[in-house]
Amino acid sequence: QYEGKGVAYFIKNPEQYRNQHVVIAGGGDSALDWSIFLSDVAASVTLVHRRNEFRGALDSVEKVQELKNQGKIRLITPGEVVGLEGEGALSGVRLQAEQGLITLDCDAFIPLFGLAPKLGPIAHWGLEIEKNAIKVDNSLDYQTNIPGVYAIGDVNTYPGKLKLILCGFHEATLMCQSAYKRIYPERRYVMKYTTVGGVEGFDGTKKEAPKAVIKSID
Ligand SMILES: Cc1cc2nc3c(=O)[nH]c(=O)nc-3n(C[C@H](O)[C@H](O)[C@H](O)COP(=O)(O)OP(=O)(O)OC[C@H]3O[C@@H](n4cnc5c(N)ncnc54)[C@H](O)[C@@H]3O)c2cc1C
Repeated sequence: QYEGKGVAYFIKNPEQYRNQHVVIAGGGDSALDWSIFLSDVAASVTLVHRRNEFRGALDSVEKVQELKNQGKIRLITPGEVVGLEGEGALSGVRLQAEQGLITLDCDAFIPLFGLAPKLGPIAHWGLEIEKNAIKVDNSLDYQTNIPGVYAIGDVNTYPGKLKLILCGFHEATLMCQSAYKRIYPERRYVMKYTTVGGVEGFDGTKKEAPKAVIKSID
């Protein structure tokens, strides 16, 4: 009802909160980091968490404590957002706090509770699933039990799997090579290093490392 009209689940452009009254809910790194960042941008930042303890980088917890002491962040703990208010757009959040039910007037509410990974409809595709992850052939190209369907990143599993982006990149590299051969069986694939051949930027320009030169050194 209020998504895009005051409620946002992630922050695309922090500038949109300039001079706004912002309520952030959550107790992890995202909630802490954005409270710190927006305390310099927004007219006010209120951080609401259902517990008194935060689970995040020590540095961030200490920074929030400091900003709270300076009056730059208002902390409401334990507190839980139980309702939203506003005609058309958000104008406030209802909180269950220690002193009872209260309403906070605000322009923006940003719940940052993290994600619960769920496979959703993919779970019914007939893929082999183990412990909520998709089994893949890691000895070859990260294909699933359905030929032509690949799974890479945190969503997959295989013996020795580590949920690291580092591993995700490796899996993506091998998967792309395999998918290319499937899509263009007649074409010869020539692997090129981006450090040598450059890479197309998202803006359409080509990014290239400086070319090597042949030059004597006196
Ligand atoms: C605190 C922390 C620190 C980390 N530090 C490191 C590190 O130092 N080095 C390292 O290598 N790795 C690190 N990792 C692990 C790394 O972040 C993950 O391995 C990586 O993000 C996985 O990438 P992914 O694309 O597979 O999944 P994700 O990053 O989880 O991306 C999946 C995306 O899919 C979206 N999504 C989910 N369901 C749906 C759906 N039904 N429809 C549409 N979209 C959907 C999600 O919103 C999400 O954006 C860290 C992780 C954490 C939590």
